[in-house]
Formats: sequence, C-alpha cells, structure tokens
Amino acid sequence: MPLELSDSARSLLRLRYLRRDEEGRIIETEEELFWRVARAVAAAEDAFPRGPRSAEIAEKFYELMTTLRFLPNTPALINAGTQLGQLFACFVIPVPDSLDGIFGAVRDAAKIQQTGGGTGFSFSHLRPRGDLVRSTRRPSSGAVSFIRIFDVASDVIATESVRGGANMAVLRCDHPDVREFIDAKRNPALFSRFNFSVLVTDDFLRAAIERREIALINPRTGLPFAQANAGELFDAMVDAAWEVGDPGLLFYDRIQRDNAVPALGPLEATNPCGEVPLHPWEACVLGSLNLRAFIVERGDRAFLDEAGLQESARLALRFLDNMVEVSRYPKVEIETICRANRKVGLGIMGFADLLLALRIPYGSDESVAVADRVMGLVQAAAVEASRRLAEERGPFPNFPISRYAARGEPPRRNATVTTVAPTGSISIIAGCSSGIEPLYALAYRHVGEFVGIVEPHPLLLRELSRIGKYDPALLHEIEVTGRIGHRTDLPEELRRLFRVATEISPEEHIRVQAAVQRHVENAVSKTINLPYEATRDDVRRAFLLAHELGCKGVTVYREGAPRGQVLQVLGHC
Ligand code: UDP
Repeated sequence: MPLELSDSARSLLRLRYLRRDEEGRIIETEEELFWRVARAVAAAEDAFPRGPRSAEIAEKFYELMTTLRFLPNTPALINAGTQLGQLFACFVIPVPDSLDGIFGAVRDAAKIQQTGGGTGFSFSHLRPRGDLVRSTRRPSSGAVSFIRIFDVASDVIATESVRGGANMAVLRCDHPDVREFIDAKRNPALFSRFNFSVLVTDDFLRAAIERREIALINPRTGLPFAQANAGELFDAMVDAAWEVGDPGLLFYDRIQRDNAVPALGPLEATNPCGEVPLHPWEACVLGSLNLRAFIVERGDRAFLDEAGLQESARLALRFLDNMVEVSRYPKVEIETICRANRKVGLGIMGFADLLLALRIPYGSDESVAVADRVMGLVQAAAVEASRRLAEERGPFPNFPISRYAARGEPPRRNATVTTVAPTGSISIIAGCSSGIEPLYALAYRHVGEFVGIVEPHPLLLRELSRIGKYDPALLHEIEVTGRIGHRTDLPEELRRLFRVATEISPEEHIRVQAAVQRHVENAVSKTINLPYEATRDDVRRAFLLAHELGCKGVTVYREGAPRGQVLQVLGHC
C-alpha cells in the first residue's frame, strides 16, 4: 500500500525526521523511516524467547504507523535505529541544593535535550533567596535565579539539537520564593524555554479560599522562613496566568493519589507540557492513537471502530514497552528507574476530528461522554496488553512494591500505561487534530521553525457546499478570522459544531479534560484557551473547577498574551 501523507507531513518529515548523511543530505525516504523505526523497536522481541519473532512484529509495527493509526513520540521517529538511539520524550531531573548538584543537572538536561527529550525539574529543594550560603557567608540568590542558567543552556543547546529544548520548572506553593516564581514569566525576555507550574496542595487551596496566613518553609532547614497570605498568593497566580499564560497549576495531592510506586517517594515534577508526573531521574515514552483513522463512514453517518481501536491500542502498548527495552539511556540513574518502573504513556489524538465526524460539538454533554468512552476503551486495552506482556516477559521489577500489588491486582508490565500528550508534531505527520484539543481555528498557520498552513477543515467545506454557502468571500473570511461563530447567516447547528478553542467556554474545556483524566494513569496535556476579553475571575474559576473535577493540573492561555505561540490565525499576522 502506498504511504499517504499530506504535504505538511512530508515537509515536516524532511525538515526534521528523515536521516541525513554527514553533509546534511537526506538519505532515506518516508517508507524507509518507518521501516527503520519498526525494525529497531521490534528488535526487543528477540530478548524474550517466549514471544513472537521480531521480523513478524516489525511488519505489524510498520503497518500500524503507515496507516497512521499510531505514532510514537518524536525522539523515537528520529533516533530509533540510529547511533543516538534515545527514544524517550519526557524526563525529570533532580536539582539538589548545591552548586555541584545544580550544574550537574544543567549538564544532564543539555545531554537529554540534544536527543530531543524534554526535561522537567522541581526547584523546591533549593534554599530561598536571602538564606545563608555557608561557604561564602553571603545570602543565596534564590531558586528562581538558578532557573535562568537552565534556560540559557537550553537556548544554546537548541541550535545543535534535533528540536528546540523544552523545560518545565516546578515549585511548591510553600517555598519562600514562590511569589518571585509566580511572577517570573511576566518578563518576556526571560525563561523562553520554560513552562512554569506551581505545585499546589489541597491544604493550600483551602487556605487560599479562606484567605489564611501560611508558613513558607525553607527546604534547607525544614523550618518556617517567612509568612504569606495564601489568598494573595493565589490571586498572584491567577493574575500572572491571566496576563502571560504562566504559571500553570499542578495539583499535588491528586497527582500523588495515582503514584504507582509510592515507596519511591512522591512524584516530584512533570515533563515540559505537564502530561507525565515522574520521580527524580524517571523518564517516560509516549505514543498516540489517531482517532481519525478509526472513523468509519456509512452513508452519511460516521462511527468509531471501537474494536479496531482497542486492537491497535494493544499492539501500540507492545510497541511502547519495546521502546523502553531498546532505548539508549543518557545516564545510568535514568536507566535504572526506567527499567524498574517501565512507565509508558499511550494516548489519543484526532479527538476533535472524531467529534466533527460524529457531528457532536466540542464541550457538549455528548462530547464529554465520547471522551469518557473513548479513553476508557484505550485504558482498558492498554492494561490488558500490559498484563499479557507481564505473563510473557515478567512484571515491572517494582511491581511487588507498587500500589497494584497492594490492591491485589494481577501483575502488569508497566507502572503506568496511559497519558494524553499534546502531539504537536506527530499530529501533523498523522494529519489529524492534536491530542484532545478542539480545533485551534478553522484555518491557521504554524509559525516558527516549521511553517505550514492548515486549510479549512474538509468537513466544513463539505457542509458549506451542502447548504449552498461555498463561496469565495466566505472562504476568505474564514481564512482571515479563523472562525464562523459571528456569521449569523449560517445555520446555528453548523456554527456550534465548528466552534474553535476560544469560542468554547473554560468550563467546557475542563469538563472534557476531566473526563479524559478519569481514564488516564499519568496526566493530560490540555490548554484552556480563553478569549482576549476573559477576566481574572474566569481564570480563577477555571483553576478551581479543574481541581474540583479531579484534573491533575491546569494551564490557561488568553488570546493575545505574549507567550511564544506556535499557531496563529492568518488575520492576526
Ligand atoms: N517535547 C520537547 N520539545 C518539543 C516538543 C515536545 O521536549 O519541542 C517533549 C515534551 O516532554 C512534551 C513531549 O515531548 O511534553 C510531548 O510533546 P508532543 O506530544 O507535542 O511531541 P511530538 O511527539 O508530537 O513531537
């Protein structure tokens, strides 16, 4: 079967994925890329005499990818079967409270980013600004000042890496530098390679609502260092997020409730986009099923091929477990914990495409039910596959100390099986909408390194011709504004179906995220897009609702905020 890829997919593959020789000339075709990945990942089979042979599995993996039903994360597509051989997208690196420790972490992060992996850090262990540095008898410059070193290193490394370095900075809500951390990204010249998230506890949120004073603790001594009003700190988080889109929140207690191996200590930070909470030195591989590839059309009705989706999910889980097996590791500490926990994150993309095919508006009760149903199917198939792999290959070595063992569940091969990633690049390769996001706009462009225009959705064009509204003036307007919500001459049903990210209310966004999170063992990457007119109170309500509905974190982005945006409506250029 010929490989069917869009023009955008082909140009993105050429830009970043296809192998090159020493002079930078491309030396493989798209088909060869998928064979390289399929064979390299299937090679893991040969380590397990009780399983099938690698040649047979390589063919299945090749078909799974080239039918665009599933793609692994970018580092796997670029590095599998090459000398780099590093296949993981997500890492968390510990940052200890010492100069040696901090610069060691900078070096480790640089090495990881060179291979296309993203890194997250908790800066909560660093002593606060003003605390004494014993060797120099001078006050410390504080946690936030050190994040700048990581940011600059990341920026420099970006030029020689397979993709720009992405980072997450996490700080606990009771760290004395939390206020400085909350406001850090207001300066657009700093921290361009970082997302910031405050790790908030349930106790903190209660104190914020009651506007109580709380103690801020010096991690070096474990003693109170300063006091703050939790209500004012929360106001500051809301205000900064409203203004610049950072910080996001991570809900500490909710995250720890799903900690598969609590004996290893708490999950301390997440990867750059927030979808994988991890232990220090831990990493996770990701891969996503493209829901668009499972849509079956009968007459003028569409269905999701649920059995097909689950069958692919089981094979995809095997693919991800193989990645843990064959990947190279940047550091022995990382290899040790990754092999002991074998965390993988299988997720979905093309969710908005599925809803459009089913004629269900994003954010409606029906869409929340679809999210629940689809992710439930993937989660169930992934757990089933992980249990079967445990029979074939043995459970993950930390299984006996995991909460699964404590609950008397059957052995499984992986400490976690599901995640929803942003799928920023792989959704372009697969030609579907990204992750579980609604359409960003009806037509838009990618800006930055990869420049591509996303044409109006084919279903919209079909609907417009059906009702006799397919005219050049309207199409031009769609390209300029990216939406049709304001066109009251178009049928209400159509305008509701094709609402874009900023036309969907924060509550609707969050209800979809929460429904998906119910069936995801790691976390869910999702941006709560707000229109420019949204108020601080909208942000506050979004934060509290995300917590109430059991999300593990929340990120808002108000239109027009200065954060480096990679998508842009054409009329806004
Ligand atoms: N990531 C990264 N740099 C990037 C994009 C992504 O390090 O430029 C990492 C990061 O950990 C992110 C994860 O890859 O959370 C998944 O991102 P995405 O799904 O967009 O990656 P894709 O596989 O589509 O490239």
